[in-house]
Amino acid sequence: MRKTYDVVVIGGGIIGMAAAYYLSQANVKLALVERKYIGSGSTGRCIGGIRQQFSTAASIRLMQESFKLFSQMEEELNRPVEFHQGGYLFLAHTAKMVDVFKKNIEIQKKENVNVSLLSPEEVKDVVPSLNTDGLLAGTYCPDDAQAFPFPILDGYKEKIEQSGGEFYLANPVTTLKKENHFRLTLADGTLLEAPKVLLSAGPWAGELAKQLGLDLPLYPERHEAVITERIPKFFEPMVVDYRPDGCYFHQLISGQIIACYTPVPNVPGIHEDVSFEFLPQIAWRMRRLIPDLKNAAFLRNWSGSYTMTPDGNPIVDESSIDGFYIASGMSGHGFMFGPAIGKHLAQFMTNGEWGADFSEFSITREFKSKENLK
Ligand SMILES: Cc1cc2nc3c(=O)[nH]c(=O)nc-3n(C[C@H](O)[C@H](O)[C@H](O)COP(=O)(O)OP(=O)(O)OC[C@H]3O[C@@H](n4cnc5c(N)ncnc54)[C@H](O)[C@@H]3O)c2cc1C
Repeated sequence: MRKTYDVVVIGGGIIGMAAAYYLSQANVKLALVERKYIGSGSTGRCIGGIRQQFSTAASIRLMQESFKLFSQMEEELNRPVEFHQGGYLFLAHTAKMVDVFKKNIEIQKKENVNVSLLSPEEVKDVVPSLNTDGLLAGTYCPDDAQAFPFPILDGYKEKIEQSGGEFYLANPVTTLKKENHFRLTLADGTLLEAPKVLLSAGPWAGELAKQLGLDLPLYPERHEAVITERIPKFFEPMVVDYRPDGCYFHQLISGQIIACYTPVPNVPGIHEDVSFEFLPQIAWRMRRLIPDLKNAAFLRNWSGSYTMTPDGNPIVDESSIDGFYIASGMSGHGFMFGPAIGKHLAQFMTNGEWGADFSEFSITREFKSKENLK
C-alpha cells in the first residue's frame, strides 16, 4: 500500500499527538505512525507533573501557555483528564541550591508566577508531615498541577480522527528516505510519502534521524517510577528533593502516591526494565522526607526514558533537511511542555511562524547554557 499526506508524524507520545492535534485543526492531511500503542513511550510512563517554575523567561512563558491549555482540556477534549492544582514544592538542603532558587524566583516573579521562597517552618505549613531536618528553604507555587496522560492522548486521538487524520499503530517506521518528498516504509511494508515529516519519536528520535544523515545530541537515560496503593489524601504538592540522593513525588487525586528519583550516575540508553536497587532506595528516600509513609504499600514499579540534550532543553525546530522537523530531547518535562510545543510547532510547520520565542530550543544553538530545574 502507498499513501500520500501533507505531513507524517512519527511517534504517538504527547509531543507527536499534540502537534498532530493542532495540525489537524488547521486542516492538514496527516498520518501519525506509532511503533506500538499511543502513549507506549515515555509519555505513558511519566508521573504527570505540570509546573511553571523554570529558570528562563521563554520556558516559563511556554509553560504558562501549556498550563492554560491543560486547564481547558476537560472541556476541549470532552473527558476528565484529572487536572488538579496541588502545587510544586522544591526543597533546598544546601546554600548553593538556595541561591539557585533565589535567582529563579526573581525571573519567575517577573513573569508573574505565583511563587514564594519559604523558610523550613513555612514549608511545614504546606506539608505538615514533612521532615525538615537539614532543610534550608523551599520554593512553592500553589498553582502548579498534575494531569493524567492517557485520557489526554485519547482525547487528541479522537479529535485528530474526527478531522480526517489517519493512524498507523503497532507499525514502526523502518526506513526513512528523502527523494523529492519523504518516503517512509513501515514494518508491514506500507509506504507513506509526504513533503513534511515531524520526528517526535522521543528517545528513539536520534537513531531514526541518522537514517537521513543527522547526528542529533540526544541521549536517552533510564528513569524509574513507582506507585503506591491508595491512602487517604494527606498532602497536595509535588515534593521535589534536590539532594543527589533525593526524589520527587506527589499524591494523586485518587490517593495513590507516585514517585521517581534521578539515579546518580545516570543509566544511559533506552531501558524499559527495572532495577533491583530502585524499590529499597525510593522507599528510604520517601520515608526520610515523610516518615508517615512507612505504611504506604507499593503497587507497581516501571521505567521509561528521559531524552536528554547537553543543556537540558529540548530540540524543537526544522532541521537542515528541508521539511524535516525534530521535536525531541524533552528531558523530565515533555509532558508538561507538550500542549504548547505541539500548538506552536503546528503553527510553524504550516505558516513558518513560531508565534512564541523558541530560540532556546533551536537545533543550531550552542547547547551551553543549562536549565537548572530538571
Ligand atoms: C518516570 C518518568 C517520570 C516523568 N515525569 C514527568 C512529569 O512529571 N512531568 C513531565 O512533564 N514529564 C515527565 N517525564 C518526561 C516525559 O515523560 C517525557 O519528556 C515526554 O513523555 C516525552 O514525550 P515524547 O512525545 O517526546 O516521547 P514519547 O512519549 O517517548 O513518544 C515517542 C513515541 O515514538 C514512538 N516511536 C519510536 N520509534 C518509532 C518508530 N520507528 N516508528 C514509529 N513510532 C516510533 C514510541 O513508541 C513512542 O510512543 C517523565 C518521564 C519518566 C520516564
